[in-house]
Amino acid sequence: TLTKKEKAWMDMVIKEDEVTRYMENGRDFINDEEIWEKLSKNQDPEPSRIREILKKSLSIQTLEPDETAALLNVKEPELWQEIFDTAAKIKKKVYDNRVVTFAPLYCGNLCVNNCLYCGFRRDNHVIKRRVLTLEEIKRETEVLAGEIGHKRLIVVYGEHPATGPQYIRDTIETIYSVRVKTRNGYGQIRRVNVNAAPMSIDDLKMLKEVGIGTYQVFQETYHHETYAKLHPKGTIKHNYQWRLYCHHRALEAGVDDVALGVLFGLYDWRFEVMGLLYHARDLERQFGIGPHTISFPRLEPAANTPFIQETKYKVSDEDFKKLIAVIRLSVPYTGMILTAREPAHIRREIIASGMITQTDASTKIGIGAYSDRLTEQELERQQFEIGDPRSLDEVIRELAEMGYITSFCTAGYRCGRTGERIMSLLRTGKEAVFCKLNAVLTFREWLDDFASPETKTAGEKVIQKELEELKESVSEKVYDKLLEYYGRIKNGER
Ligand code: SAM
Ligand code: SF4
Repeated sequence: TLTKKEKAWMDMVIKEDEVTRYMENGRDFINDEEIWEKLSKNQDPEPSRIREILKKSLSIQTLEPDETAALLNVKEPELWQEIFDTAAKIKKKVYDNRVVTFAPLYCGNLCVNNCLYCGFRRDNHVIKRRVLTLEEIKRETEVLAGEIGHKRLIVVYGEHPATGPQYIRDTIETIYSVRVKTRNGYGQIRRVNVNAAPMSIDDLKMLKEVGIGTYQVFQETYHHETYAKLHPKGTIKHNYQWRLYCHHRALEAGVDDVALGVLFGLYDWRFEVMGLLYHARDLERQFGIGPHTISFPRLEPAANTPFIQETKYKVSDEDFKKLIAVIRLSVPYTGMILTAREPAHIRREIIASGMITQTDASTKIGIGAYSDRLTEQELERQQFEIGDPRSLDEVIRELAEMGYITSFCTAGYRCGRTGERIMSLLRTGKEAVFCKLNAVLTFREWLDDFASPETKTAGEKVIQKELEELKESVSEKVYDKLLEYYGRIKNGER
């Protein structure tokens, strides 16, 4: 049951004029019938047509709906192998062998919504509700930045007046203010991304002022009828359009980096991939900027949440890999996030297949779990159960053994390489080389400040290889400058 205050607040959240602002002739850019039509029209595609589409993706162009539909309809295993190989080539071309790591920080689990699949839904009485104070946020940040060595967080909130836009602003400011001494330098969070409910343009402007990183909101499902069923009437989240256009509002508010996602397992996965493509295309059309990242979480078990066992749309491991590859090809410039929801063996396989740009590690999603030093998951404190609790050190070592360099660089955002500028650097493949230098320098810092001896050894091998590659690809002047900075970092400068 909702309090009077909660009800009054709920009535004020949605701004009707901002909902309709980006629609054309009162219609969404998602048309369920059109998506099904495309999927059925493009069945049994010729291999030659698929190869043409692969070529187009490789030139870093966003696909047309008919092209994505054709990829989704491929049956032959050999053709799928070509799709996977091309997806890996695209990642390499746009992002080289870099992977970026981050951790989620859950700030509160009060929620006025009632999403059937979520442990935090308001009718779920087994959940222990808590909102972190700013002092507690500080303590969580000290562990994340000072002990584990994270530079990037995604802060996560339920939708509730106690954790509304002002609270989100205060938590971002608090996180940026924490600076912790480490064995050789200092730890600090340099980028705070936000996963929170859809907001108004004014509220997003306020978050822009305190330095919000990416604004991430998942549509959950693009299928209108399923959306209405899973987000019951009388909740804010029931309003499909308020959510669908929140990235448009963010871009209008000047928040340059926006992130899309689908919760796979709610509806047909092929339909959802088409939805993501239409979404990216509409952002490109209206703002010239597509999604900074796309996420593809799969439904995980949650305390007292029977829907998860009942859904008939669970995505198999095999289809999971396919849908990731088709997203990679459809929106070739975008970052792709694989989370610790997945068990270690799946993460290993998917990361090794070369399609992923970001992943989380040392992940704890119980409220207050980092500073409480929880060693086991406590489902009553968390939204769902994670599959891979491995530490950042372990994940980085494994990445290094696969030949990936973990970049801790966050300079791009400070130098204005966001939004449209980053899009053009990504599309032309310039970002791939440009960021290699800073990846080497920031990885060196991290190895000296936080790595275990084994991880340091594995990491240094990767750095050596990177330095050799850079020597061949940059001018002598740039290379000398790199070596100078590298030496200064080794001597303890940060
Ligand atoms: N409350 C905000 C909202 O709904 O937009 C913030 C996001 S919620 C805390 C983060 C995301 O977790 C949701 O958008 C949803 O996709 C995902 N999620 C919810 N329940 C889940 C489950 N059982 N398994 C995996 N992911 C889940
Ligand atoms: Fe609340 Fe978000 Fe969970 Fe829905 S998914 S119940 S809005 S926390």
